[in-house]
Amino acid sequence: MAKNVNKETGEIKQPYLSAKEAKEAILDIGQRMYVRNFVAANDGNISVRTGNNEVWATPTGVSKGFMKKEMLVKVDLDGNVLKGTHKPSSELKMHLRAYKENSDLRSVCHAHPPICTCFAIAGIPLESPVLAEAIITLGDVPIAPYAELGSKEVPEVIAPYCHTHNGVLLANHGAVTWAEDPYAAYYRLESMEYYANILMITEKIMGQQNKLTAEQVERLLAMREKFGVKQGGRPKV
Ligand SMILES: [Zn+2]
Repeated sequence: MAKNVNKETGEIKQPYLSAKEAKEAILDIGQRMYVRNFVAANDGNISVRTGNNEVWATPTGVSKGFMKKEMLVKVDLDGNVLKGTHKPSSELKMHLRAYKENSDLRSVCHAHPPICTCFAIAGIPLESPVLAEAIITLGDVPIAPYAELGSKEVPEVIAPYCHTHNGVLLANHGAVTWAEDPYAAYYRLESMEYYANILMITEKIMGQQNKLTAEQVERLLAMREKFGVKQGGRPKV
């Protein structure tokens, strides 16, 4: 029987990455975020859950484009540092809440991609049905209410979306995505920023959009399983 099958229930559990795989993915994703202008200075954070009660995460006060393996920190689900000399980010509480809320999640990525952040500041969710890929991967992207940086409200505002969506915009702050593996979480961030760009241009600059019909949207939502997308929102039709 495969290691990730629960012997009693037969339920397939999402496997954990090894610490080595998790650390490599965090460094690689940090660089990708940095070169794509998703983070300025020391912004953003990435984490990967590697066990029942262990998560590898980015340190605070370091550019995500210039991280070294030894800067990463291992914490438990309550945020206690288990390994590493650097301090984890105060925003890590948001990641830990997502893992507690949805036990299938293995990675959370948080950044400040500029166009997503503009929508988050304007209070406009990403929800127009205009792009097939965005409908399959994201559905819609709601805005979680504003919460002060590092406060205990930050994890609370994202919790309601951890089972229904694949990421949210954080009001007047940025964007966060989650998934069953680190690259899927990161690609969702890329997809979100791309979707925000397209909406900004068609809705706000060109002022013209041909939206997909309810029937076309339903057909795309039915394709999620084929694309390995387990959950996601529904665009507004
Ligand atoms: Zn942030």
